[in-house]
Amino acid sequence: ASNPIPSTMAGVQIAENGDTSVLQYTTHLPVPEPQPGQILVKNAFIGVNYIDTYFRTGLYKAPSFPYILGREAAGTVAALGSGETYGLQPGDQVVFMQEGTYTEYVTVGADRAYKLPDGMKPEIACAAMLQALTAWTMIREAYEVKKGDWVLVTAAAGGVGGWLCQLLKHIGGRTIAVASDETKREMARNYGAEVSVGYEEEELRRVVNEKTNGEGVKAVFDSVGASTFDLTLSLVARKGTMVSFGNSSGAVPAFQIARLSAKNIKLLRSSLFPYIQTREEFQKYMGEVVDFLIHHNMGCKIHEIYPLKDVARAHADIESRKTTGKLLLKP
Ligand code: NDP
Repeated sequence: ASNPIPSTMAGVQIAENGDTSVLQYTTHLPVPEPQPGQILVKNAFIGVNYIDTYFRTGLYKAPSFPYILGREAAGTVAALGSGETYGLQPGDQVVFMQEGTYTEYVTVGADRAYKLPDGMKPEIACAAMLQALTAWTMIREAYEVKKGDWVLVTAAAGGVGGWLCQLLKHIGGRTIAVASDETKREMARNYGAEVSVGYEEEELRRVVNEKTNGEGVKAVFDSVGASTFDLTLSLVARKGTMVSFGNSSGAVPAFQIARLSAKNIKLLRSSLFPYIQTREEFQKYMGEVVDFLIHHNMGCKIHEIYPLKDVARAHADIESRKTTGKLLLKP
């Protein structure tokens, strides 16, 4: 028998944009009712992603206030709404991406939940999902990396970066990893990068030229944004692809597309959700991620599991640039 569902729950919301002091932990949020086609999940672990800080600061606009942050969690199905719930049952363990996951309970479309295989720990699935899917869809769809391609990855010891290094190695890509200190650079090499280097222009240019015979990389996957965009764009080979997918240092300023013509570069500002919009796409890519976790010994270091009420420390830590791997919250 499952535990009774309470009427109120703990969660974290913001009433305005700002620094970590705007994160309000409360224990009085109403537990939502699952609507038709939805399930109610009791969260076991909640993923912290850089995007959560963008919604907090206002770089990305919250639809309204108060706004509950968070995009990713794993837990146990507590109740089913009416309608199609794809065979999910109370007690099943699921992982999902959904707005407003910084809470004890959350409702999610049953079509957006992935049922965990027996024996898979929810913290492992939660730590992997969003960042692994981001990395995997990008190297399949934003630029389909081929065996032998040299590519460049920024923040390579971070959440998405660590996955990029592992997955690129798996498919035969050759990664030049960029990270800000030697500990992170070593981590990136352990994840599968062939070479790693810091962000200083001269050294980065030298390494790229040396590895690619002066041609540049087939693709750049740049998550740092403002502070690296011009430099990493200049390292793309003729007919190569520039994938800008993050703003850790701030948003890339307005851009003159004429700059792409000298080398016929393709430029993409990619985002995960449009790659997994349908249930079929989501289940397929998530199934592949689970396969990497179970059968290919991949994964991401869990940086720390914070109690939900310590969310401000988790945000400060990821913004401090000192974390490696995944930050999780435990309600
Ligand atoms: P990370 O674990 O990568 O943490 C951020 C890292 O960014 C830092 O550790 C740091 O690594 C690097 N960094 C560079 N400059 C700065 C700076 N000025 N301040 C802080 N950090 C900096 O986080 P995530 O894996 O969660 O996310 C990585 C990026 O990918 C984010 O920009 C995020 O928005 C983006 N993203 C985009 C998605 C999409 O769909 N487009 C989906 C998921 C994530 P170092 O010190 O080595 O530089």
